[in-house]
Amino acid sequence: MVKNHHLAKSISDASWSLFTDWVDYYAKVFDTWSIAVAPHYTSQDCSVCGTRVKKSLSTRTHKCHCCGTVMHRDHNAAIMILNKGIKSTVGHTESKASGQNDLYLGGKTPLDKLAG
Ligand SMILES: [Zn+2]
Repeated sequence: MVKNHHLAKSISDASWSLFTDWVDYYAKVFDTWSIAVAPHYTSQDCSVCGTRVKKSLSTRTHKCHCCGTVMHRDHNAAIMILNKGIKSTVGHTESKASGQNDLYLGGKTPLDKLAG
């Protein structure tokens, strides 16, 4: 089905939706935050100084030529994502979750949605 571009997009959209449903669900279960952030440049920008350090996917180490930071590229990206999430919540103090978490108040989980 993924060779059919129309179906592949639908399948990809459904998978992403299910993944974010799970993240939202567990955020509610563990009484914590679930915040979606734009992924752009999270693996390229330096989490310390913000300089864009272009690298191929095969380059696993982030080495910033500006501030000298050296760390695994995934660690750098995780810090960038955390910083984006924190930045997007500044000024928001009323609720920990947004959107679809209310779907689970009746004990339903994303797995229940799969079962129909
Ligand atoms: Zn840097």
